[in-house]
Amino acid sequence: MYWEKEQETLEVDLLRKQQLEYIKKIVKRVGKSEYYGKIFKNLGGFSINNWEDFKSLPFTEKQDLRDSFPYGLLVTDLTDVIRLHSSSGTTGNPTVIFHTKNDIADWTNFCARSMYMTGVRKNDVFQNMMGYGLFTGGLGFHYGAEKVGMLTIPSGPGNSKRQLWFMKKFQTSVIHILPNYALRLCSFFEPLNIDPYTDLNLRIAFLGAEPHSEVIRKKIEEIYGLRAFNSYGLSEIYGPGIAFECEEQNGMHIWEDYLYPEIIDPVTGELVPEGEEGELVLTTLRREAMPIIRYRTRDLTRFIPGPCPCGRTHRRIDRIKGRTDDMLIINGVNLFPIQVERAVMECPAVGENYLIEVKTINHMDKLFVHVEVNREAFSGTLSELKKIEKDLTNRLRSEVEVTPEVILVEGGSLPVSEGKAKRVIDNREKG
Ligand code: AMP
Ligand code: ZN
Repeated sequence: MYWEKEQETLEVDLLRKQQLEYIKKIVKRVGKSEYYGKIFKNLGGFSINNWEDFKSLPFTEKQDLRDSFPYGLLVTDLTDVIRLHSSSGTTGNPTVIFHTKNDIADWTNFCARSMYMTGVRKNDVFQNMMGYGLFTGGLGFHYGAEKVGMLTIPSGPGNSKRQLWFMKKFQTSVIHILPNYALRLCSFFEPLNIDPYTDLNLRIAFLGAEPHSEVIRKKIEEIYGLRAFNSYGLSEIYGPGIAFECEEQNGMHIWEDYLYPEIIDPVTGELVPEGEEGELVLTTLRREAMPIIRYRTRDLTRFIPGPCPCGRTHRRIDRIKGRTDDMLIINGVNLFPIQVERAVMECPAVGENYLIEVKTINHMDKLFVHVEVNREAFSGTLSELKKIEKDLTNRLRSEVEVTPEVILVEGGSLPVSEGKAKRVIDNREKG
């Protein structure tokens, strides 16, 4: 059941003690980097004796990583670095993350721990449909799966026919996949004459890298006949595997022997009371090449209070609501794309995809929600379609408190992207 029982179930007091010891060491080491060196100098030197000291340290932001490109946060010699990952960097410098051999070994270990926790074992066949390369989704789990000892198929994303061929031929039992791709891939079952329940041997899916609601999880579980586990990560802090659901499927355990998590009010920067929603902040406890202190992830979540029945003592975070910068403000009302997803996907006539569009009409913001409906619903009469439209408008209105215009479209007609789903088009007039 446990990959490393002692660490996973360590008493909370001992875990905190261990974390503080790691923090003392890491704070000593980060001063060697140009970026933290400067910060500590401005503070007139710095050392950590207790949690209060730690909490007085400034946050590190994505912009700091960009400004320090390429080596400003590097602590070790470049000769000790064996891997580089990078985020997309659509504007300005990308963020670049360096790893030593031990960093990769640590990441591999908690990816293996995460997978093992859900019940996968060495006799499983693992198909990794996440992107390999600079994006961390593919490689992190690849190494973890090999450490568990599974037969690992590095299929990467896309080429759906080949994905299903591999699944069938090699009786893949575990998949790692973007939720939006999992929803799209099933449209190939019918043309390829595949019954997922009899032709495939799937039992577990890891879903991650993008926000997805509980409704989507249920839908994927039902379509494929498996159990789906939520997996969270970001490239600045290793990548996937840093927080993962156990068999209870009730929030994601953050591996606290590798990370120290905090949740803050994104506006004031103050810690929020236990159980309240805020922005996740992470400190790497062991990273050698590029330790990061109090990194603002911009991801909104909360700690789930109380112990988990699985016996693990590492705190759990709730499903990610979205990023602080994903929030739309529509005529003064705050809205997250996942709220729209929750409302539309619960309607039985809805298919696999939706798209949010915001426009300016008569100087006001107007929300449009394009929704793919399933084939049966789409071939219905005009009045049946109007009924679905009305039902969706009501569901949305009660979830997001904005009255949208719902546009029903045929399944498969909305644009799709190879990687993470693009859910929002903001066509509002600027200024
Ligand atoms: P990247 O660094 O490109 O891998 O992107 C990381 C970001 O993807 C995170 O900061 C989150 O915003 C998002 N993300 C990753 N995993 C999840 C998840 N399980 N649920 C929701 N969002 C996620
Ligand atoms: Zn648990």
